[in-house]
Amino acid sequence: MDEFAFIDSIKQTKYRHASVIKGIGDDAAVFRENYQDVVTAVDTFVENVHFSRKTMAPFHIGYRVLAANISDMAAMGATPKSYLISIVVPKDWTDEELQEIYQGMNQIAKEYRLDLIGGDTVSGNELVVSVTINGAVEKNKARYRSHVRAGDVLFVTGTLGDSAAGLAVLLREEFSEFTNKDYLLSRHRQPTPRVEFAKGLAEIDRVALNDISDGIASEANELAKASNITIHVEKDKLPKHEALEQFPQEDQLEFLLNGGEDFELVGTVSEENWEKAKEIAKKTKTSITKIGYATDVNTTNGHVFLYTNGEKELLKPSGYTHRN
Ligand code: ADP
Ligand code: MG
Repeated sequence: MDEFAFIDSIKQTKYRHASVIKGIGDDAAVFRENYQDVVTAVDTFVENVHFSRKTMAPFHIGYRVLAANISDMAAMGATPKSYLISIVVPKDWTDEELQEIYQGMNQIAKEYRLDLIGGDTVSGNELVVSVTINGAVEKNKARYRSHVRAGDVLFVTGTLGDSAAGLAVLLREEFSEFTNKDYLLSRHRQPTPRVEFAKGLAEIDRVALNDISDGIASEANELAKASNITIHVEKDKLPKHEALEQFPQEDQLEFLLNGGEDFELVGTVSEENWEKAKEIAKKTKTSITKIGYATDVNTTNGHVFLYTNGEKELLKPSGYTHRN
């Protein structure tokens, strides 16, 4: 397929948002946002670094790369609206496979009401998909990592480690016959960015948010650093799906703390807003769990502690813990 036919084939016939003034078809796209803050992000995915054709069909590659970007919008409290795709296509990828990547992206774009407004297509040695996403949030309402305050409740949505467990099922022979495989695989291939919940939080004045792309250990440390605060996490409170129980203890802990790409949200609200946050979670059909709290202690700010049966250890961003 030539490039023009290809672009024609992926072009939406109708845009979901009236804010798209010019989509695909000119030198650049034009969109208009009135009285809102525009939120934008870009992420690049490289074959055999971020995904592999061995564990992921082209459809799921497309679905997941866009899911990751939508999750970044959720983590800012923003409504995702449009995206652009820059793609490097190797010769060994067929037209059909390429179309399937776009079908995967289109699937989640439909679910979250996003418009594909542009992109770029070049050939190269390995598949690279770069997604630029645009969203909007009410003025001054973007949710920053730096907004954690002493006394805050630390919470997380959904369950942790499911995506990593799904990948382990695909890669490790000894887990290949595990039960609940479909659940774990779907959490790995088609994660659910928590946009509705994050938007629902709008009625709470101050919320710190981050999305889980590397693992709770990493993202909790990002919150602690950005807010210059101390974060305390209780290991027994980390929400775990029953499908994880069949894995060896050591793997379970690794999935929970360092399992990447769950695309759940971790964040904090003040103690007095915790009930409200729980109501919003219920209204948006999102599970939410209190997993810890924040304190302001000069000597430990910027760090995260993990508690197991009252025992305290430093939780490093990589998740490897060191007793103090
Ligand atoms: P230009 O030469 O001005 O960069 P292109 O021929 O690269 O234009 O693109 C033509 C139109 O098609 C533009 O609107 C561009 O955004 C869109 N487009 C090109 N490649 C892609 C792609 N892979 N995905 C989505 N839109 C694309
Ligand atoms: Mg171009």
